[in-house]
Amino acid sequence: MKVTVVGAAGRMGGRLIQAVKAADGLELTGAIERPGHPQIGTDAGLLAAVGELGVPITDDLAAAMKTADILIDFTFPEVTLNNLEICAKFGKMVVSGSTGFTPEQKTAVEKYAEQIPIVLAPNMSVGVNACFKLLKETAKILGDDFDVEVVELHHNKKKDSPSGTAVRMGEIVAETLGRDYNRVANYHREGMCGERTKKEIGMQTVRGGDIVGEHTVYFIGMGERIEISHRAMSRDMFARGAVRACQWLEGKSSGLFDMQDVLGLS
Ligand code: NAD
Repeated sequence: MKVTVVGAAGRMGGRLIQAVKAADGLELTGAIERPGHPQIGTDAGLLAAVGELGVPITDDLAAAMKTADILIDFTFPEVTLNNLEICAKFGKMVVSGSTGFTPEQKTAVEKYAEQIPIVLAPNMSVGVNACFKLLKETAKILGDDFDVEVVELHHNKKKDSPSGTAVRMGEIVAETLGRDYNRVANYHREGMCGERTKKEIGMQTVRGGDIVGEHTVYFIGMGERIEISHRAMSRDMFARGAVRACQWLEGKSSGLFDMQDVLGLS
């Protein structure tokens, strides 16, 4: 499969180029950055420290998608939606790890998925997806008797808060307990805000330094506490997950999928 990576010069971009180069059956044919990016024209392989690949970074996604079979996109929701429009026009598959979609933007992604196959997942790591499954099982067992709080830590350059992964964790617990996440998520406590309400799910965010990503979901009961934690030490496993999603998508004609589908956990 011929692959284009968009966001090629970003923190994830280099890891994705390395992972595509190392993967069986995948070949990098395009690398895209935003117009005016200083790395436009640089060979994508040299930028990702895997040796020259003969694939210069450009800002022309439409030209790249004429050749490519699939787009790997780790950018931002507005950019991803533009990219999906181009991929839908050419009938090409998309794996996107972008986070921070509003409900309206998610609906727009669902529309594109009626035309092309898309994997959209806020976290492509196998470990985090195992945690998603554990959260569902744990919430099922504990029911409404335990207070649920989600705490996440990321580097100081992260743009969206809480992380897409933390939101997904909150959503999974809320869905399992029959609650509406958007009603029960509590992002802010300050001053005399009163006692914790029974069904709220606290969402707390820490930002600093170079933390790749850490998530803990606390189930806090009377006299006992369960903590389900994941700590990412490198970005490589996100990139390996994206490659796995590309291989899994091959042959699909349309539909919106996530990593639970890719890993057979749904
Ligand atoms: P980053 O800022 O380092 O990289 C983003 C890149 O996209 C930048 O190089 C930027 O120039 C480029 N870009 C911006 N606008 C563009 C455009 N119009 N066309 C082409 N390129 C454009 O960010 P990052 O840390 O690499 O993260 C990127 C995204 O991936 C974020 O949404 C982040 O939350 C998400 N992420 C997801 C996972 C996952 O497993 N799903 C893991 C890590 C990061």
